Amino acid sequence: MNTENTLKGSEETVRRLAREGDLPDKELAALIETDEYDELLFRLADERRREIYGTDVYIRGLIEFSNYCRNNCYYCGIRLDNSLVDRYRLTREEILECCREGYALGYRTFVLQSGEDGYYTDARICEIVREIREGYPDCAITLSIGEKSRESYEAFFEAGANRYLLRHETADPEHYGRLHPSVMSGENRKRCLFDLKEIGYQVGAGFMVGTPYQTTGNLVSDFRFMQELGPDMIGIGPYLTHEHTPFRDYPNGSFKLTLRLLAITRLMFPYALIPATTALGTIDPTGREKGLKAGCNVVMPNLSPVRFRKLYELYDNKICTGEEAAQCVGCLEMRVKNAGYRIVTDIGNAKRPPRDREGER
Ligand code: SAH
Repeated sequence: MNTENTLKGSEETVRRLAREGDLPDKELAALIETDEYDELLFRLADERRREIYGTDVYIRGLIEFSNYCRNNCYYCGIRLDNSLVDRYRLTREEILECCREGYALGYRTFVLQSGEDGYYTDARICEIVREIREGYPDCAITLSIGEKSRESYEAFFEAGANRYLLRHETADPEHYGRLHPSVMSGENRKRCLFDLKEIGYQVGAGFMVGTPYQTTGNLVSDFRFMQELGPDMIGIGPYLTHEHTPFRDYPNGSFKLTLRLLAITRLMFPYALIPATTALGTIDPTGREKGLKAGCNVVMPNLSPVRFRKLYELYDNKICTGEEAAQCVGCLEMRVKNAGYRIVTDIGNAKRPPRDREGER
């Protein structure tokens, strides 16, 4: 084999991905599996991101309002069968207090995330959403509360929620089955995502990198699924072990592979909102900064009351569990600035390609 040609061919593959926003399965798989072109890949991803979003980084205030969950995902620290977690719920007033504090700090998006907690009936969620909507008409309200019926999603939307984060986790049904008990299905999760989109939500999908049994083929399927869905946001972070889950003996996902996939994501979905996740900052002390340099354009600081932070432990050693909300913003502002970007406090909707805007009123 002529290595020089292979090398050129593969560099050309990266350039082609940047130019065309896509690659055939085989080339995509090969690129996922090599670290040889990472530098070029990150540079082109950053260029693309700057073309569309400049150096802007959007902030989303994350409110983890309950760690009760009826599900038993094998990777997740707050799964039902983990009896070692202290469970907590925020009251409506406490959630609103988080928003008040967040608004004063400049947040214009509130992300309400929780386990699938039956205590928060549709009526309760709607009540909370309505109240936030009334108090903060200039803000986006994002829900991340798992799989619900279409009717529930419609009710939340009517109450004033306008974004929804629901990572698809893995697009491959067989792989999905190895990460979740059989009462859960990847098919239902995908149904949820399409319902959410049809209802009019701005939708976030995504997956973890390096979950047990994940193959390169699975990752290619993840990209294909997202091409079909067309999400506004794409959340990708490394899988991180939690000591009290069935997956306790599996290693963390790879940091480098996560960065590579983030850069590929920026090139395939140039307009997407791509967060530099907390998991990325947990696996590497400057992981989020490196994520920003590889194409990410969102950070999601924690707005939850500090006394509960440690309890929303999806994986071991989660960062930012000890600081007040204001400290979190200050710290991130500095990190973002040091990486060469700047936090902006507008509502931060995803931008759209020019041809998409033509039909709009
Ligand atoms: N109940 C909501 C929120 C889940 S927590 C829902 O079902 O969508 C948000 C995300 O954290 C999950 O979608 C998952 O991708 C991620 N997560 C869970 N456990 C994790 C782990 N051990 N390591 C890394 N990420 C994890």
